[in-house]
Amino acid sequence: MPETHAVPSDAARAPSTALVIVDLQVDFLPGGRLAVPDGDAVVPLANRLARRFETVVLTQDWHPAGHISFASSHPGHAPFDVITLPYGPQVLWPDHCVQGEPGADFAPGLDVPHAQLIIRKGHHARVDSYSTFYEADRRTSTGLTGYLRARGIANVVLMGLALDFCVAWSALDAARDGFGTTVVEDACRAIDTHGSLHHALEDMARAGVHSVRMADLAG
Ligand SMILES: [Zn+2]
Repeated sequence: MPETHAVPSDAARAPSTALVIVDLQVDFLPGGRLAVPDGDAVVPLANRLARRFETVVLTQDWHPAGHISFASSHPGHAPFDVITLPYGPQVLWPDHCVQGEPGADFAPGLDVPHAQLIIRKGHHARVDSYSTFYEADRRTSTGLTGYLRARGIANVVLMGLALDFCVAWSALDAARDGFGTTVVEDACRAIDTHGSLHHALEDMARAGVHSVRMADLAG
């Protein structure tokens, strides 16, 4: 079993560490349908960070039209309302990252040709998936844990959009599955609705997720 690292700068250099770049897609950038403020600022950081890792995974939000997370699928509701679904509370979003549409494309300028895996998530019509490890029912695996374990990966470093949803939920699942887990906080941007950023940071700290900055991983 490869060693889990507590020191992120060492972990980043180890072949047993994977970088997971979360949802750097057109719809999450300024001008997109679910724009994360300043989201485009992290694209060059992803390019820079990725060069330090042998194993890089890209995630891609990938919804069918009429997805259950879209406010437009729930008459009488508006984006950012919260409703209760069989698997728990669900924030309703503007339509975004619809399969095959330009908004679901990776960010222009994302330059990570050595990424080895693209995990698409949120493709089941009736379940959302913020996390790139488990869908929002908390049971349905995307297969990423198995992929990483089979590759001898013991640590994951995450960055991307949005910090308080897809990055945080992914980090919490990674930690729960036993990976040494680090979030590069200044390589993320947040949506921050209904106190989501505050809660996400608290939950990650409680779960033992390391928080670092780009400068901590330099060199
Ligand atoms: Zn989505």
